[in-house]
Amino acid sequence: AAKTGGRARVVVFDPAMRAAVVEQRTLEAQLQGALANGELSLVHQPVVDLADGRVVGFEALLRWHSPVLGSIPPDRFVPVAEDLGLIEEIGAWVLREACAAAAGWRRRHPGARDLTMAVNVSAVQLASPELVEQITAALAASGLPAGALVLEVTETALVRDPEVAARQLAALRALGVRLALDDFGTGYSSLSYLRQFTVDVLKIDRSFIATIDGASLPPIVRGLIDLGRTLDLEIVAEGVELDLQREQLRAARCDLAQGYLFAAPLSAEDAELLLLAPTDHAAVADGA
Ligand code: C2E
Ligand code: MG
Ligand code: MG
Ligand code: MG
Repeated sequence: AAKTGGRARVVVFDPAMRAAVVEQRTLEAQLQGALANGELSLVHQPVVDLADGRVVGFEALLRWHSPVLGSIPPDRFVPVAEDLGLIEEIGAWVLREACAAAAGWRRRHPGARDLTMAVNVSAVQLASPELVEQITAALAASGLPAGALVLEVTETALVRDPEVAARQLAALRALGVRLALDDFGTGYSSLSYLRQFTVDVLKIDRSFIATIDGASLPPIVRGLIDLGRTLDLEIVAEGVELDLQREQLRAARCDLAQGYLFAAPLSAEDAELLLLAPTDHAAVADGA
């Protein structure tokens, strides 16, 4: 709408747009073969008990290292995998890998017998008729008890088709797996989901945790913790980066936490080493 000098420019396809389209096409083409070519991997971020600092579980996070494009974050490629119809196959692989890793750690480390594993499930996966079967198969193949698996869904995934989502969540709970509401508070109608869908865990989004920067707990964070407690949910704080955040969350009796303060997402090898180490909060290098 600029009236700056001269003729109107009707440009529908400038070089920057062209580059973006080419990049998108390249990403799509590369993603098609990523799983078969062994370019996908999982990293594991510890979940820590705020009361005693112990590692009680991990969240599996997907990584893609493309020889052509380099490292692409999951926020970028998971939606593309959904669009291309690849997410079910990738999701099944994530479930198998994550369950196998957790089952092995529980078997090998006496202090890790009750370790949990959280896996993210996207909107398309949640709507898939194959999901229940994939989870059943991953649990059976690994020997991981259903109660040790936590499925993380976002409010955005629930809003797509609430009826399908409600049926699916009920089927998943019937398997004995636990359900977590991820990124809680960032959806536009968070509270109505808690009424509509039964979950076991609330993960407070890191944008709220980032507001903890002084001597007192911000009222909204306190409210989210109190809400979770009232509903008898386990509460996980995401993105804890500072000591004062940990201290205030612990004082408010938030149960669990994840964040760079404790550890970045780790390779499977480093995650297992952490289970051998005595509890401390030393930073551990990013295995991503
Ligand atoms: P999420 O499930 O909410 O995961 C938390 C994200 O926060 C991760 O980013 C993690 O690396 C990052 N993070 C952890 N601690 C901190 C911290 O202290 N500070 C900051 N700034 N960030 C922190 P990541 O790995 O890039 O994953 C992004 C999102 O991609 C995930 O959000 C999840 O929605 C999705 N995702 C990851 N893996 C999978 C997967 O296997 N399947 C599906 N469907 N989605 C996945
Ligand atoms: Mg998550
Ligand atoms: Mg989250
Ligand atoms: Mg997220």
